[in-house]
Amino acid sequence: MADFVIPAPPVPAIPVSGGGAFPVRRVYCIGRNYAAHAVEMGHDPDREPPFFFQKNPNNLDASGNFPYPPHSSDVHHEVELLVALKSGGTNIPLDQALSHVFGYGVCLDMTRRDLQGEAKKMGRPWEIGKAFELSGPVGPVLPVAEVGHPDQGRVALSVNGALRQEGDLNQMIWKVPEMISYLSEYFELQAGDVIMAGTPSGVGAVVRGDVMEAVIEGVGTLKVKVV
Ligand code: MN
Repeated sequence: MADFVIPAPPVPAIPVSGGGAFPVRRVYCIGRNYAAHAVEMGHDPDREPPFFFQKNPNNLDASGNFPYPPHSSDVHHEVELLVALKSGGTNIPLDQALSHVFGYGVCLDMTRRDLQGEAKKMGRPWEIGKAFELSGPVGPVLPVAEVGHPDQGRVALSVNGALRQEGDLNQMIWKVPEMISYLSEYFELQAGDVIMAGTPSGVGAVVRGDVMEAVIEGVGTLKVKVV
């Protein structure tokens, strides 16, 4: 191994239900994967090719606290299914895609919507709106042995007990095997890669002190306080 000339950063990791930790290599996030959310964001819900952006692996955080980020006054919640890969490759056929999944979890794609909106308007990348510090609150990863491959079930998020987002995994425009297969045509997927599978409609702003409670039926719940 090389002699690092500065202290090596820690390997980002997510806790696993039942023990241990899942090391995170890359974070792929799909945009507009529920028709009703595409519509609320002002887009056509037709099935266009999927598109992805990325967060940074160390944006994921299982502390249960979400620090309100700087330079935004419109930070939105997006509840999403997290797909964690135990292996990968290129050009993965659809019928083999699920064999690469280690497990699933509940996560939030927190978004500085005002900065994302400016970036969209100017044709700039989305990182400033999407890939900021601790922008990906996550719950534990549940191994497939425990949770199977959930493809239906209620997805919901409430803020301070009031329902904001609600949908069903079966409304995802691009299903988990399709996202894995598609991504593997453009990137070499590897163990440790995760996919955030898109959000149903009802996204909205939070403020400090809010408590977000996300639930995906059959996968789990995630409670996060905005601090
Ligand atoms: Mn999202």
